[in-house]
Amino acid sequence: MKVLRTQAEMRAEIASQRELKQAIGLVPTMGALHEGHISLVREARSSCDVVVMSVFVNPLQFGPSEDFTTYPRTEDDDLSAAEIEKVDVAFVPSVEEMYPEDRTTAVDPGPIGKILEGAQRPGHFEGVCTVVAKLFNIVQPDRAFFGQKDAQQVAVIKRMTRDLSFATQIVVCPIVRASDGLAMSSRNAYLSAEERRRATCLYAALKTGRDALLSEGVTAAEFKMLEVLRADGLEPDYARAVDPDTFLEPSPDGTVLLVVAARVGPARLIDNLLVTSEVEQG
Ligand code: AMP
Repeated sequence: MKVLRTQAEMRAEIASQRELKQAIGLVPTMGALHEGHISLVREARSSCDVVVMSVFVNPLQFGPSEDFTTYPRTEDDDLSAAEIEKVDVAFVPSVEEMYPEDRTTAVDPGPIGKILEGAQRPGHFEGVCTVVAKLFNIVQPDRAFFGQKDAQQVAVIKRMTRDLSFATQIVVCPIVRASDGLAMSSRNAYLSAEERRRATCLYAALKTGRDALLSEGVTAAEFKMLEVLRADGLEPDYARAVDPDTFLEPSPDGTVLLVVAARVGPARLIDNLLVTSEVEQG
């Protein structure tokens, strides 16, 4: 596995792979790898000739009072895991390498970037779009792999890819959960044993929400999700039923996405569940 740290090295590698007509897959991550990330790498490995995994804790997507400085950084472990999964290239740039000190340009995701996660985390999706656009320009992937875990990020990235005419196919991979239902997340590392146990109520809330949605409708689903979260002492930021593409009101006959965000001790966790009329996914 090659470990490349500069844009120039990455571009040179991609140019030579393109000459060999290799299909290139990109898995963007912020490191602290877990089974969720690994599932993306495996999906990329199964459908691309060259798998590039980026590891970059992107300062632009963290608010001033968020966890940028304390976000787990485990580069040696991440590179070992990537090697085991047969990643071809790990792209691990520094902040200085990615962002000129006097950078002024950013990618505006529009209204979808300002609701729900975007409302709770102002500037977050602008930071996400800006770094993903840069990674798409540097790596020029045929396919890029994202987790349904970050459902609003998926909707924002799909929209940006379409609106800005990137030639990259967005592949969405299902949520990987622990055996007790908690969605894998690098931020689970912030939880004590007791908080970790209470955090399982995010998924419990979603399942309760699904049942309420199917029997009683959107308002009942949103109410009951909040109830379940609060019963276990979580502080919910939101619990909503939305359209999975727009994150606005769901259409009455379409797929509904249930989304929750809540604070548990020092961590802020998100989760979601897609509900079609009878079948759940993700
Ligand atoms: P992050 O390092 O948290 O930015 O995540 C990198 C990628 O992994 C994103 O596309 C996430 O949606 C995805 N991811 C994170 N957790 C999971 C999970 N539990 N299941 C599936 N994908 C995930």
